[in-house]
Amino acid sequence: MNIDISTIQREYSQKRINALKENALYVQSVYDKSPELLNIENEIKKLGLEATKIALKKDQNSSDEKVNEILDKIKQLKKNKDDYLNKNGISLKPKYDCEKCKDTGYITIDAHTQMCTCMKQKLLDQYYNKYNQYKLKLENFENFDDSIFSDKKNPEKYNSNDSPREHINKIKSLAIDFVEKFDEENSKNLLFTGNPGTGKTFISGCIANELIKKGYTVLYQTAPLLLDAIFDYKFGSKSKTSKNLYDSLFDVDLLIIDDLGTENLSAAKFTELFSIINSRMLNPKTKTIISSNYDLNKLAKLYDERVISRLIGQYTGCRFFGDDIRLRNKNK
Ligand SMILES: [Zn+2]
Repeated sequence: MNIDISTIQREYSQKRINALKENALYVQSVYDKSPELLNIENEIKKLGLEATKIALKKDQNSSDEKVNEILDKIKQLKKNKDDYLNKNGISLKPKYDCEKCKDTGYITIDAHTQMCTCMKQKLLDQYYNKYNQYKLKLENFENFDDSIFSDKKNPEKYNSNDSPREHINKIKSLAIDFVEKFDEENSKNLLFTGNPGTGKTFISGCIANELIKKGYTVLYQTAPLLLDAIFDYKFGSKSKTSKNLYDSLFDVDLLIIDDLGTENLSAAKFTELFSIINSRMLNPKTKTIISSNYDLNKLAKLYDERVISRLIGQYTGCRFFGDDIRLRNKNK
């Protein structure tokens, strides 16, 4: 396992420098275009200099009054400047990718500096992406196209009175609800079951993207590769960063375990997998989405029935059905 945090830190400082450079050019172009604004800015600078000069003079009594007078003027000019900018819809602030940490990767809360969620997410992506075939960026509710799901009802085939299209839209609402209530302690985890190509990964991806946009950390992994990564860590190098990443399986805001049931499960792997799932169930701040091509009966047979029934108690089950949308996409 080769995790290089210094590369990410270099990327961040480059990103920040670029944002500041771009901003300096932009501010200059705004001043070039609006002499009115430039005048205000020059006036502020001039007054600031004047105030400093007076303050440096020794005559304390008379200078205080003058300085205050100038500071009032500056305040008024700054207000004029803000009004002008607001009126014209101009912002002179640098545009960072992450407003929370201003692209430094770190935030300070109560004198305690910690890694920003954007950098945590970057680390998670970098480390787990090598295992990951996930097109996380492409999937979101906006480009959700329900027309690829059939609108033909077939209660016998689907074991439901809904058409696949009606059904996927119900699941979509449930997924949006999951995102909106993510912070609520009583909101449940999600268990997606159903055949391949019925939209499980797509809906998981949409949820992941929405939450990342809101500043949560998300880790997506298929069960087999997740277990490989865990065993890599357990029997590989135990650097501080790799430990952090292992820990993030427990404390990442959302963990998505895809393809449960396809892994080659030894007793040791079974224990490892369910200790993660269990400890996340006990932490009200974290949520988990488990997705499987098998139905609950099959999962109960593959794993311990008690484990599965415990899952059902803490998870909202969603059964996906319909024809394989991946085939439909190819035929388009
Ligand atoms: Zn950030």
